[in-house]
Amino acid sequence: MGKFDWFWKAMGATAERNDKKSKGIVDRSQELAKDFASYSDSDVVAAVRGAVTGAGIVDKPAFLAGLSAASTRTLGLTPFNVQGQAVLRLLEGDVIQMDTGEGKTLVGAMAATGFALTGKRVHLITVNNYLAARDAEWMRPLVEFFGLSVAAVTEASTRDERVAAYRSDVVYAPVTEIGFDHLRDNQITRRSQTVQAPADVALVDEADSVLIDEALVPLVLAGNVGAQQATGQITEAVSRLVTGTDYVIDAEGRNVSLTDDGARKVERTLGIESLYDAEHVGDTLVRVNLALHAQALLHRDVHYIVDEGKVSLVDASRGRVAELQRWPDGLQAAVEAKEGLSVSEGGRILDSITLQALMRRYPTVCGMTGTAVEATEQLRTFYGLHVSVIDRATETKRFDEADRIYATAAEKNRAIVDEIEHLNSTGQPVLVGTHDVAESEALADALGERGVTVNVLNAKNDAEEARIIAEAGDVGRVTVSTQMAGRGTDIRLGGADEAARDEVVGLGGLAVIGTARHRTSRLDNQLRGRAGRQGDPGLTLFFVSLEDDVVVAGGADSAVTARPGQDGRVADSRVQSYVEHCRRVTEGQLLEIHAQTWKYNKLLADHRDILDERRATLLDTPAAWEELSSRSPERAKQLDHLPEDVKVQAARDIMLYHLDTEWSEHLALMDDVRESIHLRAIARETPIDEYHRIAVREFKDLANRAVDKAVETFNEVTIDSAGAHLEAAGWKRPSATWTYMVSDNPLSGSGNSFISGVANMFR
Ligand code: ADP
Repeated sequence: MGKFDWFWKAMGATAERNDKKSKGIVDRSQELAKDFASYSDSDVVAAVRGAVTGAGIVDKPAFLAGLSAASTRTLGLTPFNVQGQAVLRLLEGDVIQMDTGEGKTLVGAMAATGFALTGKRVHLITVNNYLAARDAEWMRPLVEFFGLSVAAVTEASTRDERVAAYRSDVVYAPVTEIGFDHLRDNQITRRSQTVQAPADVALVDEADSVLIDEALVPLVLAGNVGAQQATGQITEAVSRLVTGTDYVIDAEGRNVSLTDDGARKVERTLGIESLYDAEHVGDTLVRVNLALHAQALLHRDVHYIVDEGKVSLVDASRGRVAELQRWPDGLQAAVEAKEGLSVSEGGRILDSITLQALMRRYPTVCGMTGTAVEATEQLRTFYGLHVSVIDRATETKRFDEADRIYATAAEKNRAIVDEIEHLNSTGQPVLVGTHDVAESEALADALGERGVTVNVLNAKNDAEEARIIAEAGDVGRVTVSTQMAGRGTDIRLGGADEAARDEVVGLGGLAVIGTARHRTSRLDNQLRGRAGRQGDPGLTLFFVSLEDDVVVAGGADSAVTARPGQDGRVADSRVQSYVEHCRRVTEGQLLEIHAQTWKYNKLLADHRDILDERRATLLDTPAAWEELSSRSPERAKQLDHLPEDVKVQAARDIMLYHLDTEWSEHLALMDDVRESIHLRAIARETPIDEYHRIAVREFKDLANRAVDKAVETFNEVTIDSAGAHLEAAGWKRPSATWTYMVSDNPLSGSGNSFISGVANMFR
C-alpha cells in the first residue's frame, strides 16, 4: 500500500478516540434522572433551560438527564447510555459512528434539540424525502416539549411551506432540497423573496454518504431564457424533412446530417438566407441539428417516455426511467418540442454547487453514520471533522463469514445462487446486495428458475423501498436489492410487526449476502450492518471473484497465483489478503480522485462565497444605486424625480441581472477550461495551477464586466416609477427554473459494472 500508509495510520489513531469524559457525564446524568422522574414537565424544561446559556451547555449532566426524561415522556423511548454519549459527541461537532439499529434517529433529535436550546438553528439532513418527513413527525413531540419548533422540507413542499419550515428551530430535509433552495435563493432580486433562513448547524444523517461519497455531485439550477417561438419553428421545419433526401443517418444510427437539399428546405421555412451564415451558425444551425437528432435518432418509448407532459429519459443499460437525469439542455428542448410539450428551452445553467461546497457553508457540521471510521481521513481533510466511535448498547451476535473467493465470475455467480437457494430452503430470510439493476434482475431470474420467490428492490419510491426493506426480515423472504438497501430503514426480524420474530431468531436471524466487494469497505459494512440489529443474531457473507472490478482495478500492479478447487473456489489465505490489498488500492484511488477533484472545485466554491457576499450587499444595502450613480452621475440626475426606494430597487435589479448572468457564464467557461485543461496546460505548469490562474483572472474580469455592463444598462434602459424595464430591453431573467443533480460523478463506481447488461450471468 506504501503511498497510503499515512491514511491507514491516521485511521487507526482516531478510531480509538477516547470518550471517557463523556462516559462520566452520562453516568452522572443517570443519577440525576432518578430525581427528574418526579419533576413536572415544566420543571424538566426549566432544568434543561437552566443548564444552557447562549454560549453552550454549562451543566451537561442536568442537560442530558432532562432530555432523557423528555424522551421518555414524549416518545416512550428512554435513551441508552451510549445514546447519551452520542448526543454529547454530536454537540461537540463530531461525526459519530453508531451501528445500524442503535437508535440514531433519537440521538439526532436530542442533539438537534440541544443545539436549538443554545439558540442555534439546525438542519437535520436526511438521506431522502421520506425520512425527512417521517423523522420530523416521529421526533416532533420531543422537540416541541421544550417549546421549540420543528418542520420538514421535502420535494413536495410548496414555497410557502418551505418559507415557514426553514424558520423552525429544527429543520429536517434531504440535502438536495436544501441545496436547490439555496441555489434558488441566489437568484432573488429582493430580500423578501428569500426562502431559506440562515442555519448554524448541519447535522448529517448517513454522514459518510453525503459528505464523502456524494460530495462532488453538483446540484444544478437551470433556467429557461425564452426563445420558445424559434424552437417551435425549427421543429416544424425539421419535421417536414424526408430521410434519405433531406438528411442521412450513418450506418450505426448514431449521427444524422443535413444534405444540401435539406438545408435549403429549412432555410426556406425559416425565411433565412443561409444556415451557414455567421449569424446562424452558432445558434440556429445548432438548434436545427438538435431538432434533427431528436426527430431522427431518438424514439419515444425506446429512448424516452412521455409522462404527465414531461419527457423522461430511459436509462439504456437499466431499461428504466432515470429520474433526475436530462440530456444536454438543447437536446432536451428539441425532444420536448418534437413531442409538442412546453419546452424548457434555452436551458442555461444558472448556478450549481457541489454537496461539499454546500456543507462547508455551515459554521458547524456534525453527523452520524454506521460507517465513519473508514472515512476518518477524508472527514478530517475535507471538513476538519473528528470521528467518535460509540459502543453498541448490546453486544453484536452477528457472524461475519470470511469472503468466499472464486476464480471466475461465472463460478462465483453459480455459488451465489446455490447459497441463496440453500439458505432459503431453511426459511432464514436473506437480503442480497447487488451492484446494479441488470445484476439484480439476472439474479432474480436465476433464483426464480430454481423456484425461489424474490422481492427485487428497484428504488424508485423512497416510501415503497422502506416498506419492502422493513419486511425483508420475515420467514422465507429473499430480497434482492439493487443498491445500498434502504439506508436508514430498520429490518426487524419476523417482519415489520415482528410477528415471527422468535422463529427467525431460531433460524439464525437475517442473512446478508454481498455479490461482490464494493470499492470502499464502508459500503460493505453498511450492507453488513443490515443484519444483527440491536443484538439480534445474523450472518453476513461476501462473494468475490478474481474477475471482479475491484480486484482487477486494484490488482493492476501486482499478481497472485491461485489454484482453484473443482467448483472454482480459491480457499488460499494469500488470496484472501490479496483481495484485501486490491480493495485498499481502489479505496486509495478514490481518495486521490476526490482530493484532486476538490482542488478544482475549491476555487469555484471560494468564488461563490465572494459572489454571495456581493449579492447580499446589493440586496441589503443601497450599494447598487450608489455605485451606478457615482459611475454615471448625469443619468442619476435624470432620475432625481423618482422615489428613493424605486431608484435603489431599479439599480439593484440591473446590477444583480448582470452579476448573475456573468456568473452563469463563468461557470460554463470554467467547465470548458477544466475539460480542456490538460491540452492547454503549458509544459512548465501543472494543469491545476493553470486552471487556478485562469479561474482567478476570469473571476476578476467577471466582477469588472458585471459592473461595466450594469452601467451601460443603467444609461440605456427605461427607468420610471415602475422600476427598470429590463425585460423590454431584452435583459430577461429566466421565467422558469428547474433543478437536477448531475449523476455521473467519478466516485459512484459501482464495483463491478463490467458485468452489467449480461442477462444470463447467473446461469
Ligand atoms: P438507526 O437509524 O441507528 O439504524 P433507528 O433510529 O431507526 O436506528 O432506531 C432503530 C430502532 O430502535 C427503532 O425502532 C427505535 O424505535 C428503537 N430505539 C431507539 N432508541 C431506543 C431506546 N432508547 N429504547 C428503545 N428503543 C429504541
